[in-house]
Amino acid sequence: SQANFMRVIVQEASMDPSIGVELLCVVKAVLKKIKRRVLVGDKVLVGSIDWIDKRGAIENVFKRNSEMLDPPVANVDHLLVLFSMDQPKIEPYSLTRFLVEAESTGIPLTLALNKTELVSQEEIKAWKSRLRSWAYEPIFCSIESKRGLDTLQFIMREQTSVLVGPSGVGKSSLINALRGNKHILGAVEERNSFDPQILGSKWYEEQRVGEVSVRSGRGKHTTRHVSLLPLPDGGYLADTPGFNQPSLIKVTKNSLAHHFPEIRKMLKDSEPANCAFNNCLHLGEPGCLVKGDWERYPYYLQLLDEIKIREEFQ
Ligand code: GDP
Ligand code: ZN
Repeated sequence: SQANFMRVIVQEASMDPSIGVELLCVVKAVLKKIKRRVLVGDKVLVGSIDWIDKRGAIENVFKRNSEMLDPPVANVDHLLVLFSMDQPKIEPYSLTRFLVEAESTGIPLTLALNKTELVSQEEIKAWKSRLRSWAYEPIFCSIESKRGLDTLQFIMREQTSVLVGPSGVGKSSLINALRGNKHILGAVEERNSFDPQILGSKWYEEQRVGEVSVRSGRGKHTTRHVSLLPLPDGGYLADTPGFNQPSLIKVTKNSLAHHFPEIRKMLKDSEPANCAFNNCLHLGEPGCLVKGDWERYPYYLQLLDEIKIREEFQ
């Protein structure tokens, strides 16, 4: 359902001092009519601006670079895949599913491994070289001991990031650690109603508007709202993590191989850089460049089976 209000940060304006100002905006009915949903992270054109009351109306949405549905955020340019060294331990097949799901969005990703203070230096070294053989360079961090948090902020600077990973690895803890300074508020926020206790009685009227639209049947009070938290070194992090259970819904049997960097590397290092068959599934076909001598090949086969079954029943 379409939110009634969106908080918009001014990035370009005819009046220079207005850069960085937050406007509370309604979404113009015309956008709703053509089912153009405004997402958090969208770049929008705002009109009817009242600079004193800091109000405006969203009139149009600019073309998106990317669009995530879980959580609903536009223009995400970085995924941070978070797992933990312990509690829970890394389960390689589960990690592979998350990495394949993340790769399938086409958005660049970083892998981070949390809770390093719970394990030995040897264990960290072992995972480092194991993941290097998967063609990933993980960042080791610990929210508990603050290890690696600077590196993570540096990687996320000037980008809009979304955190993904299974439950229990520390996603909420990381978001809260980076939220850090209490004065930082969500940069762009989607809400169906405003809590007058948080925002002051000035917003009471808007809250009633929200209730009216509920009665008219245009949607319920969805509790799900995403905010982009501004990070200290620049950039934004969505305060809601993404896919808890990778569905692999966008992955087809022919695209699966592209989501394994090991396969990408094997193909790139060959000349010519493709197997004899155009739609080779790398199952030992004649002229196939992909050998079976790498750790995750069995996972590739397992995922391929799963996707084949799904495609047969579609
Ligand atoms: P989420 O499900 O991924 O959002 O995980 P949470 O942020 O809820 O964290 C799950 C548990 O792990 C909580 O009890 C956290 O306090 C704990 N936790 C988070 N980061 C660390 C860490 O660096 N070290 C340790 N030992 N525990 C952590
Ligand atoms: Zn092949």
